[in-house]
Amino acid sequence: MNDCIFCKIIAGTLPARKVYEDDQVVAFWDARPAAPIHILVVPRQHIPTLNDVPEGDPLIAHMAEVARKIARDQGVAESGYRFFFNVNRGGGQVVFHLHAHVVAGWNLGVLFIHMGVALAIIWNRVASLVRLRRP
Ligand code: 5GP
Ligand code: ZN
Repeated sequence: MNDCIFCKIIAGTLPARKVYEDDQVVAFWDARPAAPIHILVVPRQHIPTLNDVPEGDPLIAHMAEVARKIARDQGVAESGYRFFFNVNRGGGQVVFHLHAHVVAGWNLGVLFIHMGVALAIIWNRVASLVRLRRP
């Protein structure tokens, strides 16, 4: 537990850009954001994964409430955001101190449209190259 990055951030021995804290959780900006808004909601208690939270524990509901408040504060509650847990290595978890991601800021719809247009252009080019090579 002494080697846990998030325990160190919570204890204040490692720096982080905190946006919220109460007696149960601390929320801070992700060090390598995957989007313009990427904040982690982390319980003060060292719990390794979502699987280790006892059934009926109100902690997860509290983390969701904090995520909702953060989304409001960041101005993305209405436009939309993602709230998720990565669970174990197969689920992409890298830091084994329970945390939820609050991610927003890229309009995925527009991103997919741009990717579709780019793919159509590439497909057109490839098709015309193949046509040119035919005898
Ligand atoms: P996971 O993949 O475990 O769900 O997510 C761990 C997250 O923690 C990653 O998005 C990673 O960028 C972030 N992270 C790792 N080390 C640090 C750190 O020292 N400080 C902060 N603020 N975030 C970190
Ligand atoms: Zn920890």
